[in-house]
Amino acid sequence: MEIAWFKKIRKPKQAVEHKRIQVPEGLWVKCNSCKEIIYKKEVLRNANVCPKCGYHFRISARERLASLFDEGRYQEVDTDIYSVDPLKFKDAKPYKDRLREYREKTGLNDAVINARGSLAGVPVMFSVMEYGFMGGSMGSAVGEKVTRAIERAIEERIPVVVISCSGGARMQEGALSLMQMAKISGALGKLHEARLPFVSILTDPTTGGVTASYAMLGDLNIAEPKALIGFAGPRVIEQTIREKLPEGFQRAEFLVEHGMLDFIVERRRMREVLAQCLKVLYNRALADDVAPEAERPSGTGDVPGVPREREAVGRTVQFPSPGTTRKYNPPEL
Ligand SMILES: [Zn+2]
Repeated sequence: MEIAWFKKIRKPKQAVEHKRIQVPEGLWVKCNSCKEIIYKKEVLRNANVCPKCGYHFRISARERLASLFDEGRYQEVDTDIYSVDPLKFKDAKPYKDRLREYREKTGLNDAVINARGSLAGVPVMFSVMEYGFMGGSMGSAVGEKVTRAIERAIEERIPVVVISCSGGARMQEGALSLMQMAKISGALGKLHEARLPFVSILTDPTTGGVTASYAMLGDLNIAEPKALIGFAGPRVIEQTIREKLPEGFQRAEFLVEHGMLDFIVERRRMREVLAQCLKVLYNRALADDVAPEAERPSGTGDVPGVPREREAVGRTVQFPSPGTTRKYNPPEL
């Protein structure tokens, strides 16, 4: 009888039963800041802000619009504006294909949504950028839409709010993208002449040509906490100035400290704060009052030869009032 001295009798390998708990897709999310695993519903209930550390998750343009307008209702306008690939640009993929891909993915024609509605009863024109569409980059379509939002606001004599979330100008349209900076800034100049307010909200990230033009031109520039805001990236700057950049450089808090922004508002309080700002900056009756002659609503009782300011006497003018209705009355001696 042979003894199996050196033979070890092994049991045949058995398939290990899969006992790993299957977590349904998207039930939990990992916070990018504190790395906690959080129940997704809890994050959603908290306006897409981490309940543990206050990190603001990126949200879509539609989510923003729904959370800011009264009852989440708004009218979308300028939906028929497309980029047409004027340079026939091609990198890893033709620009045309990229556009088609993102249109299917986001259901949008380009990286911005224009919408009209009311916020706390104040009529307002919104332009909200969509980061999900090519990193919220600004090409001719985005530039045209933001410009149209401003022009509509001038026409209707209502305030403008632009929410930026962008990687900057879109390289696939070259100089045409860069020209949008001047075009939008020009439209904002007209809005300013019409004495209508522009509130710019900067979210994570707002960079490049968007920061270098309209995002920083608000009568109020408001940011979300910890938002990355800058022109060039930190690596490029470090290489150029040959210096180490300070901690928190290009974050909203750093920018407020250095006078680049007015204030920071948490997402949960954005609607409330925006409503307050619009009530301070905008007064419908006065906005009509200071409109250029041709744009004034009829029947305001203009007396030829009498300066407009005279009519303001004996009427309560709410603060802050535009320059033309403000009067300096020296104290009586
Ligand atoms: Zn967190």
